Amino acid sequence: MIVVWHRADLRTLDHPALAEAAARGAVLPCFILDPSLLVAPYTGNNRVQWLYACLLALVESYKAIGSSLVVGAGSPEAELLRLARESDAKAVYAVRSYEPIGMARDARVKSVLAAAGIELKLFAGDCILEPGLVKNGAGTGYKVFTPFWKTWHTIPMPNLYAAPNRLEPHGIASLEIPKPVTNFTLPAAGEIAALNRLEVFIRRTGLKYETERDYPNLEGTSRLSLDLHLGTISPRVAASRASQAGMTGWVRELCWRDFYRHILVDEPRLGHEAFRKDWIDFPWRKDTQALEAWQHGQTGYPIVDAGMRQLEQTGWMHNRVRMIVASFLCKHLLINWQLGEQHFNTLLLDGDLASNNGGWQWSAGCGVDAAPYFRVFNPVTQGEKFDSSAKYIKRFIPELEGLANKEAHQPWTSLRPPKNYPAPILPLAFGRDRFLETAKNYLRQGVS
Ligand SMILES: Cc1cc2nc3c(=O)[nH]c(=O)nc-3n(C[C@H](O)[C@H](O)[C@H](O)COP(=O)(O)OP(=O)(O)OC[C@H]3O[C@@H](n4cnc5c(N)ncnc54)[C@H](O)[C@@H]3O)c2cc1C
Repeated sequence: MIVVWHRADLRTLDHPALAEAAARGAVLPCFILDPSLLVAPYTGNNRVQWLYACLLALVESYKAIGSSLVVGAGSPEAELLRLARESDAKAVYAVRSYEPIGMARDARVKSVLAAAGIELKLFAGDCILEPGLVKNGAGTGYKVFTPFWKTWHTIPMPNLYAAPNRLEPHGIASLEIPKPVTNFTLPAAGEIAALNRLEVFIRRTGLKYETERDYPNLEGTSRLSLDLHLGTISPRVAASRASQAGMTGWVRELCWRDFYRHILVDEPRLGHEAFRKDWIDFPWRKDTQALEAWQHGQTGYPIVDAGMRQLEQTGWMHNRVRMIVASFLCKHLLINWQLGEQHFNTLLLDGDLASNNGGWQWSAGCGVDAAPYFRVFNPVTQGEKFDSSAKYIKRFIPELEGLANKEAHQPWTSLRPPKNYPAPILPLAFGRDRFLETAKNYLRQGVS
């Protein structure tokens, strides 16, 4: 018997640990609810509920092949030891995790299991190409995306693993998975839903991705981030299907996901500080009122507010809008990107340390291959460009309903501005100049 320990890989297709275990004989698939990881700062309630939904779907996947998922709760080392003893297993197989906290947990589990004569074996399955595989000429990891991508897509992707057709029942009892409770409807969860999302996206968007991906009112992106986050779809399955469909531009986005994971493995400190060390002590402002206005979509800048309300109301936000709201927080409001990162992490269904941290550091200008710090997105022109019909902002800000499209992006210019929507929190030119002045002075002091 081999215990297959699921973590952020809630699928049976292209699951190397499961396939290798099934090739050797009987399998006991399990998931351990670790209470220390089901709370802030690691996750938020939306993601806990999404986890339950994906686990319930995994139960169905195992049922369909004659087995059952065993859910335990407690510390993974104690629970795995119990399950291995109950089932007389001599090995635990899992997909390797690359988050610092996951790597520390796995080291702990490995030594506890080893002391009991049980092997913990980890398999590559979280990335398309695992950290360590993409190196520059000097044999080290890349810090810039374009050369990473150029090397990355010349390396053949490992073969995909089929899902097992049939597993023997194991007879071990499971805890019941809580029913997900959210104040919005969760998307369909699980591997069948994820594969379906991928196919619908390829059919609907396909090669139009490059031209539609920046427009938040269109269904121009895949929304697979939720599935990739808990591994209900393997990134290799997604990449190989998209490659067959000629969607190189989309595969390049999946490569960003790999890139940020590789970076985090090379520089685990990024989880709590800026990549550029000269930005670590940047003089951010403390302004709780402005932070709260930003969090709740009350800044008076419609594209920013629509994005923040989309996040609050659906647990997801379009990528273009993530960049706009992040720039607005760090630059116009001069508030620490880490507070934005935390807020995203609390609400996002796809909240993921590597990609969230990478996105925030990129936006603030302090990360690897980041946008230059002096690039400050203007939320009005961004809104007019990427939501010219104003349909996106009106969907999340009903207060703007009566305004013409152009006015809706700057309601304060209307002769009849909506009474229940706030005036701008600050003039854009003031915020921009204040940020640029602060950054220039700070960097001039020789901290850079
Ligand atoms: C400030 C900020 C925070 C972000 N936080 C997260 C996060 O917590 N989790 C997360 O998965 N993504 C994050 N992103 C990246 C990106 O916004 C989302 O991956 C994307 O919006 C998800 O929607 P989609 O699946 O429809 O994307 P698609 O456009 O369909 O892209 C396909 C997949 O490629 C990957 N991808 C695309 N863009 C990026 C990127 N810039 N960085 C890393 N991977 C990318 C994702 O896995 C995504 O699902 C963040 C970006 C920014 C600017």
